[in-house]
Amino acid sequence: MRIIVVGAGLLGLTTAYFLRLHGADVEVIERQSGPALETSFANGGMLHASQANPWNEPGVFWQALRMLGREDAALLIRPRALPRMLGWSWNFLRNSSLPRYLANVEKNARLADYSLTVLAEHLAPLALPFERADHGTLKIYRTAAELDTATRFAERCRAFDVRYEALNAQAVARLEPALAPVAHELSGGIHFPDDVSGDAQRFCRALAEHCAAIGVTFDYERLASQVVVNGGAVGGVMVDGEMRRADGVVLAAASYTPALAASAGLKVPVQPVKGYSLTLPMADWQCKPHVPVIDEHYHAAVCPLGQQLRVAGTAEFAGFDTRLTESRIRNLYDLLARIYPDESRRVERRNCVEWTGLRPMSPDGVGIMGRTAVRGLYLNTGHGHLGWTMAPGAGKLVADDIMRERTELPSADYALARFDA
Ligand SMILES: Cc1cc2nc3c(=O)[nH]c(=O)nc-3n(C[C@H](O)[C@H](O)[C@H](O)COP(=O)(O)OP(=O)(O)OC[C@H]3O[C@@H](n4cnc5c(N)ncnc54)[C@H](O)[C@@H]3O)c2cc1C
Repeated sequence: MRIIVVGAGLLGLTTAYFLRLHGADVEVIERQSGPALETSFANGGMLHASQANPWNEPGVFWQALRMLGREDAALLIRPRALPRMLGWSWNFLRNSSLPRYLANVEKNARLADYSLTVLAEHLAPLALPFERADHGTLKIYRTAAELDTATRFAERCRAFDVRYEALNAQAVARLEPALAPVAHELSGGIHFPDDVSGDAQRFCRALAEHCAAIGVTFDYERLASQVVVNGGAVGGVMVDGEMRRADGVVLAAASYTPALAASAGLKVPVQPVKGYSLTLPMADWQCKPHVPVIDEHYHAAVCPLGQQLRVAGTAEFAGFDTRLTESRIRNLYDLLARIYPDESRRVERRNCVEWTGLRPMSPDGVGIMGRTAVRGLYLNTGHGHLGWTMAPGAGKLVADDIMRERTELPSADYALARFDA
């Protein structure tokens, strides 16, 4: 069976790998010159089942209103992005009702838990070098109310096998001594010991190399422009004006998937949500952090990746604009200074890598995977802020769906057809 995967980011590569293990003849088409040069390039580095909550939690509408027009807001909506987002936004708000939100948390938590199992059982044996660390995730809070709400949410997620430990401010500083200078500002923290961290781009590069070694073909610097459909079944993909025939096609082109899927008559509700990151050397830091930290108050994440620190955060609806906006970058340096005030004074901007990427976001905060109404056409996109976390599990799920027709999680929960209801 010949399958074309469009996109060599996290989701395309894990899908290609598991398809190959099933014996498929796999070709990956990628417009960039190598793997993971778009959204999977410099993300927050955390594989965290503890963060399974979609962003549209109950009350998100009022939160978004309060943030409107603020350049330093965690969620920024640029007016130019609004016209193309109207239907999607309505769906996003509809999914912020408590019952829908909780149902979506459950789908994400189950996929995240499965994904970490797939990482451990199927990918860890490959010993891919990607600065993997197993210190869990530490979430910190600055008010008693934030800590209380988060502890109740963590307790709810225990039902999906997400273990946690609530910590007071002193215990936070014991677990991560680099936080000692701000411990007096904290109401406490929650440690999720089962979360993992690692460099997504290095993972992708190593996995792509391994895939090539086991027979996956990679065609870089090629643009897929159209899915070809004959009589309700996929026939192949147009690549740089040339027809590539295939028995199956997987679209894993992140926020660009909807345009490709539209050529096959499908409406895929995915919008780009811009995020930023900084990568900085920690060589001269006196107290190097080792635990990935999420500051829930300031919506920032800091993740050690070997000798470097990744700072990530903020969300911006700005269409497909991938320019670095100075105010948003500055915002990240400010957030770093709030978490590590002493060490951040050593940071020299000229030594930092500043980056922005587009999270492919579905309106219910759950990835869109698997079969579609077109026979032989499959999706693996829309994982939003959780694409690194979900990639191992989502890749296996989609490959199993294609090759075995039996999946270890209910594929209907993640299929495009759920938006028809
Ligand atoms: C700031 C930030 C922080 C994040 N932090 C985390 C985190 O800590 N944990 C987590 O789980 N997730 C995180 N994420 C989310 C995660 O990075 C993404 O969900 C994930 O990288 C998406 O992977 P992908 O394979 O879908 O997309 P991509 O990596 O963008 O891959 C899609 C590929 O398709 C290619 N492509 C597109 N169109 C075409 C075409 N027509 N023809 C050929 N090729 C095409 C692109 O070039 C690209 O390489 C973060 C995201 C951001 C922006």
